[in-house]
Amino acid sequence: MAGTLYIVATPIGHLDDITLRALRVMREADLIACEDTRHTRKLLEHFGIAKPMISYHEHNESTRTSELMERLEGGANVALVSDAGTPLVSDPGYRLVTAAIAAGVSVVPVPGPSAALGALAAAGLATDSFRFCGFLPTKAAQRRERLEELKHETCTLIFYETPHRILGALDDVAAVLGARPVVVARELTKVHEEFLRGTAAELRAELAARPVVRGEITLLIGKAEREASNDDSPVEEAVRALESQGLTRMEAIKRVAKARGLSKRDCYRRLTS
Ligand code: SAM
Repeated sequence: MAGTLYIVATPIGHLDDITLRALRVMREADLIACEDTRHTRKLLEHFGIAKPMISYHEHNESTRTSELMERLEGGANVALVSDAGTPLVSDPGYRLVTAAIAAGVSVVPVPGPSAALGALAAAGLATDSFRFCGFLPTKAAQRRERLEELKHETCTLIFYETPHRILGALDDVAAVLGARPVVVARELTKVHEEFLRGTAAELRAELAARPVVRGEITLLIGKAEREASNDDSPVEEAVRALESQGLTRMEAIKRVAKARGLSKRDCYRRLTS
């Protein structure tokens, strides 16, 4: 009988964020596939787990996929982890998961930390709808092009960034998306965790004033605050549309009123007239 492929999330900083299930699955697995064996060895040692490991990273994904598939089809249980967070979220694993599914091997998620969701949960931006966009391109021209493509998304945008590109990225966000609410979530779950909130231009100025920007960064961009003001549908229709998305009538009225620059009372009056 074939084994199971477990996709195991690991901490993005604070080791206490490991889940009990992640520990059990790694203890019971026959093999742990990881991006960097030295990095994962430290994690395993911290939790007193000794297991055979095999490297699985972006440069050997295709050869390692066949090797791991052989092991899985031979009955081994394999735990796939990345250096931090949830595998496959801007991390290797897609090939292996699709190969396992194609071969009828069970793929079981063991959920846990991910920078994108941790950042979103505490950012204070809309969470009803969001889009995870991975890393922005490294060159300014392509980055602006990508932001242009995303400009009309009516949801929170989430990106992974690096400390040496964050200023450039914020420049381009300011140029293409203007004064939307932006959050820089840095060093989540670690000693120097911080959330910076403001417009892209404000946050750029704040970070540029520091001698150096370090650490891991998740960048979040709120939807245009007055995007619905271009919506010329009748107020009643706009309120109903929000209600059908699960908002209460009062919440829907509040949001439509804000988007159209009306008072809640005016909005309510138009509904009832
Ligand atoms: N798979 C991981 C996950 O689920 O979060 C993400 C892997 S991706 C290669 C690494 C990027 O995630 C970093 O460059 C940074 O943008 C973001 N990231 C990882 N840890 C973070 C942290 N503690 N705080 C903020 N962002 C983090």
